[in-house]
Amino acid sequence: MKIKRQKHAKKTISFYKYNFCFREPFQILIDGTFCQAALKNKIQIKEQLPKYLMGEVQLCTTNCALKELESLAKDLYGAKLILQRFQIRKCKHMKDPVPASECLLSMLGETNPHHYFIATQDQQLTTALKKIPGVPLLYIILNTMVLDKASERSLKHVEAVQLGELVSPSQQSSIQTLKEKEGLSKDRNDRRGKKRKRKSSNPNPLSCLKKKKKPMPQQPKKTDGEKKKRSRPRKRRPAGPEEAAVTSNPTTA
Ligand SMILES: [Zn+2]
Repeated sequence: MKIKRQKHAKKTISFYKYNFCFREPFQILIDGTFCQAALKNKIQIKEQLPKYLMGEVQLCTTNCALKELESLAKDLYGAKLILQRFQIRKCKHMKDPVPASECLLSMLGETNPHHYFIATQDQQLTTALKKIPGVPLLYIILNTMVLDKASERSLKHVEAVQLGELVSPSQQSSIQTLKEKEGLSKDRNDRRGKKRKRKSSNPNPLSCLKKKKKPMPQQPKKTDGEKKKRSRPRKRRPAGPEEAAVTSNPTTA
């Protein structure tokens, strides 16, 4: 079972690496529910997660997730101790904390640009996550951590990209920046300037083409030579009679 589980994880990780540009160290965004389940099932997240994902991991959470644990019952104290050891990523709610599920969703946005894995036992959060393409989900079931297989949404997204119906996440972000730039006239000029610079670097291949054509003009030169040869006899012809006159004189004399 363990080998099978590892194989599935490997396949899923390479799916995210290839299609959504996930790279090590993997960013694992963890909430209180996951810590609580890990504690109950005696799972050492810090030790077991890198082994399971076969790579370096960066364990992190948000201030909202911590605050939520603090406000809940005392039996979650252990989970809080685990969670507060992780790196705290800045969220939009520093002044007014929101429920952890809401906060984690806001960290993902529409495209999960920071390539977060989400580790949670929250069912509502899980269903919401599956509507965002490219979000790997970790949960604990039967005393083990499981990396969920890619969601339907992720698979459809990849399929659409492959069919050319959609642009890939990296292309999407570049399009967005282009759109932002189009809104500002100053940036527009900058962009045009950059394009001109790129165009100025292009003439090299063109000059190469001209160089290739240069050996060709040697043939017309040959025709010039032929014309000169033709002109030479014409010059000789008027010279011919003079010579003949000179030579004819001694013969007559
Ligand atoms: Zn937050």
